[in-house]
Amino acid sequence: MKKNVRGKAKKTCKINVYRDTFCNEFNLAFHKPKKDQCSTCTIYYEKKQRGEITNEDEEQFQEHQTKKEKSREEKRLDKERAKTDRSFTAVTFDLEAVLPTPCSMVGDLFYKRCLSTYNLSFYSLGDSKGTCYLWDETNGGRGSSDIGSCILMHINSLAEKNSAVEEITYFSDTCGGQNRNQFVTSALLYALNFHPNLKAINHKFFERSHSEMEADSIHSSVERAKKSTKVYHPSQWDTVVSMARKRNPYIVIPVNYRDFYDLKGLKTDLNINLKKNSFGRNNQLAESQVDSGNERKSRKCIF
Ligand SMILES: [Zn+2]
Repeated sequence: MKKNVRGKAKKTCKINVYRDTFCNEFNLAFHKPKKDQCSTCTIYYEKKQRGEITNEDEEQFQEHQTKKEKSREEKRLDKERAKTDRSFTAVTFDLEAVLPTPCSMVGDLFYKRCLSTYNLSFYSLGDSKGTCYLWDETNGGRGSSDIGSCILMHINSLAEKNSAVEEITYFSDTCGGQNRNQFVTSALLYALNFHPNLKAINHKFFERSHSEMEADSIHSSVERAKKSTKVYHPSQWDTVVSMARKRNPYIVIPVNYRDFYDLKGLKTDLNINLKKNSFGRNNQLAESQVDSGNERKSRKCIF
């Protein structure tokens, strides 16, 4: 580093001084992101380095960035509203990586075929409450019907606990097999019909690879708790998850195979004709909205 950014000559330190200061004086290190990188952003920056950016690439990247910012802004506004408006609830939800049974630091167990437990976590943005729906693979899978059934249970519980709630907004990633599909939307419409107090349920999606959800903080806590725990029976995960946060512990709801609905059948029974709304899939923030409209009879379901 002979010259500074403005091109003026400036005396610089040698690399060993940096190394000594960073490693010995402060014990600092550069953060390496562990999460999967966004393929759109990575390809764009690699092309930029090679000087191969076309106008179309630039346009697509800017659109990607706009969608990313818009979804964050939507969540920020909904979070603010949820803190003050009792009739409105905003929730983020996500499925954690599988929790294996048995689970311990013994190396041999790593190579055994383990029983998977799934944890679908809901984080309420207004009051920071975390609710986790847990089931093992003998009770259910992780497809659209399983996820949609848990959302349905969550809506039922919200409507029971707070009769003033009229509007619920869910935020999730765009995983088509789990979250963004017509079966989950059918479940939302069913819930809207079932609870007379509810006027609208919104399902908002983050831009692909840029989901920033508070629900992920639940998963980080569970992963931390997992390191110092031994699990030999799937039901022990209920305790591990509920104790993962000391202050304001997470509520754990064990889910049984009887609790899951056949949402594919529900969609057929409801005779829902889902079609793309005027926003389409290329909207800045794709949104699946279930709105009651002016009359309770005229339900509409826009996907
Ligand atoms: Zn990106």
